[in-house]
Amino acid sequence: MGGSALFDTFARASLSFDRGEGAWVWTTDGEKYLDFASGVAVNALGHANPRLREALAAQADKLWHVSNLYEIPVQRELAELLCANSFADRVFFCNSGAEAIEAAIKTARRYHYGRGETERVDIVTVEGAFHGRTLATIAAGGQEKYLEGFGPKAPGFVQIPFEDREALKEVMVAPTTAAVLIEPLQGEGGVRPFSTAWLKEVRSLCDDHGVLLIFDEVQTGIGRTGRLFAHEWADVTPDILAVAKGLGGGFPVGACLATDEAAAAMTAGSHGSTFGGNPLAMAVGKAVVETVLEDGFLDEVKRKALLLKQGLAAVVDSYPDLFETVRGAGLLIGLKCRLPASMILSAVRDEHLLLVPAGDNVLRFLPPLNVEDDDIRAALEALDRAARELTLSATQTDGQSM
Ligand SMILES: *Cc1c(COP(=O)(O)O)cnc(C)c1O
Repeated sequence: MGGSALFDTFARASLSFDRGEGAWVWTTDGEKYLDFASGVAVNALGHANPRLREALAAQADKLWHVSNLYEIPVQRELAELLCANSFADRVFFCNSGAEAIEAAIKTARRYHYGRGETERVDIVTVEGAFHGRTLATIAAGGQEKYLEGFGPKAPGFVQIPFEDREALKEVMVAPTTAAVLIEPLQGEGGVRPFSTAWLKEVRSLCDDHGVLLIFDEVQTGIGRTGRLFAHEWADVTPDILAVAKGLGGGFPVGACLATDEAAAAMTAGSHGSTFGGNPLAMAVGKAVVETVLEDGFLDEVKRKALLLKQGLAAVVDSYPDLFETVRGAGLLIGLKCRLPASMILSAVRDEHLLLVPAGDNVLRFLPPLNVEDDDIRAALEALDRAARELTLSATQTDGQSM
């Protein structure tokens, strides 16, 4: 064993895939797996989607990259499409979720700077949050396991406990608070939704105290929860929003959306990105958003989500020793486990179903938004087989030890 030429940053499963179609992927050895991980909520329209392949190929034939030194018509078009269908008036494109959050943080701080309130720099986040892996976004997430060994934590981030009213009120009156940054539904943190009442209270306190509200919809955005953005469920509008994962359907792209007012101080030269909004990414992103906005698409996401959620609830009922509960919104569903989630993850993988672990001992189901009903049934059957196998081996082990 010579090890690998790669950093050891990822604990990878020893599976290599070389093609995919819809919700299915095939290994280099020709083994077929049902992909309810979707590259962590990225392949929103499944693998090898014909419409996305065509959009990418057509753009690849014309022009790949010119940089933001010039006009990029397709970038404007995607921005207009996002604005026409959201609270936003302006968009900044980048290449990942963490970069979208960085842009959101910079926009919020710069807003206050532009108004002469230069002391307003603090970004308030909530325990259990995940906002990315750059130096600023690990400080925002505040999780020790991601901060350890990377030098001083970037200043300007304050964290409050989950849905803690008193703590929220306290930070809101602080003269240094610039913005509150939250995921309407925490993804990595274990598929933990905030209550509508909480989100409404945050919005109203932000308004009272001149603090901006940033939603991190990197994981929940672009139809994942059955609405274009998850915050629409709570009818609470942010000033700034970060999106990425599903936006490119597998092509790396991120975006920071904002109101005219919030983006006012992001003047020429204040921020930038060489690759951000590159024609290839924009062509694919536009095809993704157009597809998700088609009549009936999001209704279908909601219908499929219900089918999957009900099926999972039945599995929880059948195996109360293994599973505790099902939670989440749309096709971002968490299954809270009683056995270590890693153990269930590998048992499920043995049944050729791919899932994603999350915090709080949760397994995430993140199928493509256009997943087939038959694929949902196949996933439920695979989970049931894995659960039966785990129960059986537990009984056998108990028998032997007695
Ligand atoms: C994945 C994720 C990020 C980070 O996105 P990257 O593309 O990995 O940088 C940030 N916030 C949330 C909520 C995420 O799920």
